[in-house]
Amino acid sequence: MRAVDIIMKKRDGAELSREEIATLIDGYVSGSVPDYQVSAWAMAVFFKGMSAHETADLTDVMLRSGKVMDLSGITGPFVDKHSTGGVGDKVSLVLAPMVAACGIKVPMMSGRALGHTGGTLDKLESIPGYRTGLSEAEFREFIRRDGFAMTGQTSETVPADKKLYALRDVTATVESIPLITASILSKKVAEGAEAIVFDVKAGPGAFMKTAETAEALAQSLVSTGTAMGKRIVGVITDMAEPLGLKVGNFLEVEESLDCLEGAGPGDLMEVTYRLGAWMLVAGGAAKTVQEGERRCRDAIRLGIARDLFLANVRSQGGRIDRLFELRGRWRAKDSYEILAPVSGYIAGIDAYKIGLAGVYLGVGRDRTTDPVYPDVGFVFKKKAGHEVTAGEHVCTVYGKDAAAIETALPLAVSAFAISPSPPEARPLIIKEISAL
Ligand code: URA
Repeated sequence: MRAVDIIMKKRDGAELSREEIATLIDGYVSGSVPDYQVSAWAMAVFFKGMSAHETADLTDVMLRSGKVMDLSGITGPFVDKHSTGGVGDKVSLVLAPMVAACGIKVPMMSGRALGHTGGTLDKLESIPGYRTGLSEAEFREFIRRDGFAMTGQTSETVPADKKLYALRDVTATVESIPLITASILSKKVAEGAEAIVFDVKAGPGAFMKTAETAEALAQSLVSTGTAMGKRIVGVITDMAEPLGLKVGNFLEVEESLDCLEGAGPGDLMEVTYRLGAWMLVAGGAAKTVQEGERRCRDAIRLGIARDLFLANVRSQGGRIDRLFELRGRWRAKDSYEILAPVSGYIAGIDAYKIGLAGVYLGVGRDRTTDPVYPDVGFVFKKKAGHEVTAGEHVCTVYGKDAAAIETALPLAVSAFAISPSPPEARPLIIKEISAL
């Protein structure tokens, strides 16, 4: 089977067989198919798309390029959540212990900040001592003991995706629903989850800018994951404005602690409870979303989720004493207070602009090798719908140095829109797609 014939077939809009997909992907990983041919194929997929069958075959072929986590010997059910990425999205830090407190095991493999979106691993690593590069034995042991564990992908997790994603990044083929589906789903299935709840973000601060494209991705993740024998739910949530009142690595750990102590901001908790409820339903621990939500609220109210969070911090090497010493105090010395330029109502805070400004401040990174800083970011005093008077303090910005603040500030200031009348409330949960 020649790679050129497979490319031609896809270019002409025909459906590829599993063997053809495997020839291309396995050949790419082993080095026998060169990247210029895989680039041409990816562009053909970008324009011609893939059937549900082809997407499931691609996902499975990619999954088999690496190691699948073996969770045998631990009592499940194993359910994970994956977010397509947002700004101020610290949901995983609250959700994992909350759902674990309800009897679900959460094998969570997360990513790092890239571009304008934050990364769970960077947030957790801002806790002094916290390690995210767990061995398989540690990952298994912590899941068994604490109900969840948080780690990064290893070199053995879907190597096909590592190569293909890097290639897509430089060949303008990232924004393809079947390629995104296979990329995300292969990595999630590799971590050993039996059921997965996808939080597909929609809006300016998200990868998918509109509810329509987010829905198309959610639908593809649900149907492909279901075809692979997994229990899948896709929840489309709004990412027009950052979630919660804090954006930044340690700042978001602080806010997660507030959530676990029952004092989390309303928007963040609404999304967290909904996703948690679906995880309980997907794992068979609740019959309905309403029952799931009740159980999640109890796990927070009774402090069980907080205890598990702290148990996990301890397991993964984090210093609990330092966490509480630094809480509310760890702030970069260079800061700036943004004031409302006029009186009115906050119409919105553009999550994309805040995310990009965050990269300058040191919250995130442009390249995977850039460092991130724990003590920088944004603390919002006001969010959409709040009334403000001219000169009122709406946000504090912390940067790695004065120059970083100077660069970030125009973008950060322009993120705030103020209108003379209250804005219409936007629903946070836009749509839910369940194949349970
Ligand atoms: N995130 C992924 O992991 N893969 C994609 O293709 C896009 C976003």
